[in-house]
Amino acid sequence: MYAFTLERPTTLADAKRLTGGGAQALAGGQTLIASMKQRLMRPENLIDLGGVAELQGIRVDGQTIVIGAMTKHQDVAANADVRRLIPGLAALAEGIGDRQVRAMGTMGGSVANNDPAACYPSAVLGLGATVVTDRREIKADDFFQGLYTTALDAGELITAIRFPVPTKAAYAKFRQPASRFALVGVFVAQTAGGVRVAITGTGNGVFRHAGLEAALAKSFTPEAVQGVQIDASEISGDLHASSAYRAHMVTVQTQAAVRQANG
Ligand SMILES: Cc1cc2nc3c(=O)[nH]c(=O)nc-3n(C[C@H](O)[C@H](O)[C@H](O)COP(=O)(O)OP(=O)(O)OC[C@H]3O[C@@H](n4cnc5c(N)ncnc54)[C@H](O)[C@@H]3O)c2cc1C
Repeated sequence: MYAFTLERPTTLADAKRLTGGGAQALAGGQTLIASMKQRLMRPENLIDLGGVAELQGIRVDGQTIVIGAMTKHQDVAANADVRRLIPGLAALAEGIGDRQVRAMGTMGGSVANNDPAACYPSAVLGLGATVVTDRREIKADDFFQGLYTTALDAGELITAIRFPVPTKAAYAKFRQPASRFALVGVFVAQTAGGVRVAITGTGNGVFRHAGLEAALAKSFTPEAVQGVQIDASEISGDLHASSAYRAHMVTVQTQAAVRQANG
């Protein structure tokens, strides 16, 4: 490891001041510390957000669940309100990585990182959530902008994510057996604004699929998506799975998610 400074603010105001000055936020370190060890990133100043109380916790606000950016995956998975109101989100959190990753990794770190195979971005996009930052509110449809890229400006901090409670929703993932990231993951939701389908693991980042959404809007059943064309030329292939295989798995995982959502 190389030399860097580490600050531990206890208020959001102090964290804002420090990141505004060019320091990099540190959440659970599940991606950032590994990237530093590999010299993929070399921040000179780190700001540990772990002591900032305003970034913690889960609360119900009318028909919305608000999850603080520093909430760990294990706490989303175990939370009684999340399990009652959006069980598909709790199950998604429960299926992330392994026990250690779930004990350290955070909602804000995952969403800010926007790994193209991460699970949470599909829930944020699939549920039509809102990303709340220290400066503004960003709709999920505007937030994810491709490979490891988001609408966040330099030094901008996610403070919470607001998830509207759906009529029904579920996530199905065909996981990479070593990392447990998604080879293909599909989040489906019936929301007040219509059916939403968000796909992760197949390319440059999470995206919605208009054909699947239209088919499920007509009939929210596994059979409804059987004939929907998934264009393999728009899906990445690698040593783990070809484009054609992943395209097929999009249909399979969508059907699995719909089955789960329908109970
Ligand atoms: C072995 C392994 C398996 C995994 N499996 C899965 C999986 O199955 N599914 C899945 O979805 N994920 C998986 N992950 C990712 C994991 O869930 C973490 O959420 C992810 O690595 C980010 O880690 P973190 O929350 O500790 O954030 P960090 O690593 O601390 O930060 C990540 C990035 O986000 C920035 N950041 C952090 N917090 C904020 C904030 N509040 N505002 C703005 N920027 C911020 C940091 O500056 C950094 O650039 C896995 C990770 C590992 C190591």
